[in-house]
Amino acid sequence: MSCSLGSEDSLDLIKQESQNSKLDPWVANPPLLQKLVSSSPALFRFQSTQDSPLFKLKDISGKVFELPRGGCVAITSAGPIQFGIPPETIKDSLNLGFEIPNYYVIPKSRWDKMFHMSVAEFEFPAYFNFFVKKKKITLICTKEAKKAIRVIFRETLLGPKTFEFFDQEFFPGYKGKPDIVKELAHFSKNPFNHNLPLTVSSLLDFIIFDENGFCFLLPHLNKFLGLAYLPNEVTIRKEQKIFTVLEKDVEIAQVRDRIRIRVDENLEDYKDQLRYGLFMNPAIEMDEKKLEIYKEKYKPIQFDPPTFGVTILGSGHGFDPKGNTSGYIVWINGRGVMVDPPPFSTHLLKKMGVPSIMIEWIIITHCHADHDAGTFQKILESTKVEVITTKTIMGSFIRKYAAVVDMNEKDLAQLFKFRPVVIGAPLKFNSATFNFFYSLHAIPCIGFSVSYKNKSMFFSADTFYDPTAFFS
Ligand SMILES: [Zn+2]
Repeated sequence: MSCSLGSEDSLDLIKQESQNSKLDPWVANPPLLQKLVSSSPALFRFQSTQDSPLFKLKDISGKVFELPRGGCVAITSAGPIQFGIPPETIKDSLNLGFEIPNYYVIPKSRWDKMFHMSVAEFEFPAYFNFFVKKKKITLICTKEAKKAIRVIFRETLLGPKTFEFFDQEFFPGYKGKPDIVKELAHFSKNPFNHNLPLTVSSLLDFIIFDENGFCFLLPHLNKFLGLAYLPNEVTIRKEQKIFTVLEKDVEIAQVRDRIRIRVDENLEDYKDQLRYGLFMNPAIEMDEKKLEIYKEKYKPIQFDPPTFGVTILGSGHGFDPKGNTSGYIVWINGRGVMVDPPPFSTHLLKKMGVPSIMIEWIIITHCHADHDAGTFQKILESTKVEVITTKTIMGSFIRKYAAVVDMNEKDLAQLFKFRPVVIGAPLKFNSATFNFFYSLHAIPCIGFSVSYKNKSMFFSADTFYDPTAFFS
């Protein structure tokens, strides 16, 4: 989504006004929202889909908003409730200047089979609420989804439970093998109270649909007071393919229980979509004549990879509203190694004119969502690609994605070729030499140096860098 059309002032305005009023801009300032929408149609382009919405079916309150990356948010007296969680969804809320919701409804199908990405990507909403707002998020789901989500988050928040392969991952004589258990223990304390362990429950609460498909939400104040079923009661009813939101037993909205990822409006300009044939959104009607004109006008870029260099797919982090999540391609003699495929990397490559077939390897540095969310899309679009990481990190990846995709671990491992890294032993690729090492991070994470002829590059990966803390 483009945010460069004079929208900055409007965003500042809405943030400023909401700060002044100390109220939630969603609930407190609907006129301001309208003002912003009408003053920045480009920024709010997704609003146009409100006329032919993909996710909402009924909007009696007029407060259900579709999100650029997919899913939607219903504003209720219990706060905003989000339906579906595509990768990088918090960037939508941040870009729009709205509160990041505490409540998330998990769709029946948590995996978008078209884009091979999760639509229950709760990690960054959880991290943002916890680290920035010091709150938990509440996931509203079935018992089965809760079980899978706890497995996923245990792996990604705290790392593996055991390290049976770790000792074999180092070349004999390698000096610098970390004490991984001790390192991870350092990061597994609650940052707001070091006497408490960091656990899945530190960041996540769950509300489970009952046997009749109902769940009841109460505003935080009521929870705090221990009161139940007071006037602000909000209910969600789950039926076949539909969620219904009720306030005080009155229906205010209906939303589809089928969340699909939208790529067109968050990454591509409409012209660019025409230019590269990225017509993924069934809501956009194609005009054949226009298409021919654009095809003629915008010929695909001829991509010429460097002998030794880097293409940056993204350089932002998970909380960065403007930038793509970090991800890179290291080029060696015309062949590419993709490092931490970001979500939508396939589309970014198309946009850049880079043929997918040029990417032969993927390096997964670690299993945080801002580093692995686009991996499956990349793996499944080519049978040739090999995945490089350590056995320990691969173990985490398999356990995590078996729960994400709802597949058994063995079958999942069959979907791609795995090349295990040995730390301290050089790994050759197309005449370049990679040397990997473990960095210092909250879960097992590798960085590397790569050299080719007389040139070299170094990739630190996510790593703890705080000299004061190191020497204290
Ligand atoms: Zn990380």
